[in-house]
Amino acid sequence: MSIKNNDRVNHPRHYTNHPSGIECIQVIEHINFCLSNAVKYIWRCDDKGDALENLRKACWYIEREIERRQRLEDGQKTAPYCELCGKWDSSTDKGVCPACQGAINA
Ligand SMILES: [Zn+2]
Repeated sequence: MSIKNNDRVNHPRHYTNHPSGIECIQVIEHINFCLSNAVKYIWRCDDKGDALENLRKACWYIEREIERRQRLEDGQKTAPYCELCGKWDSSTDKGVCPACQGAINA
């Protein structure tokens, strides 16, 4: 892999060109799946793809997180449940079941 391609993988410009000098990953690696995706779409909204679509995706992930927390508060479900599909899965230590992770990576 060339240095240029390697940089696109390791430090994509749309995640590293914030005026603060902070990379998106430095923030999102400390928060859960849905919130990190919301931040990711907000972070890059003017730099990659369609800004409105990015902001709508951020909203979708925030709504998803609100619903997940509401379910927990209502006592309907407790961890470990997949943050996306809500199914119980003992392997969801990262918050997302393998099926949802596969769909994301596809
Ligand atoms: Zn799932």
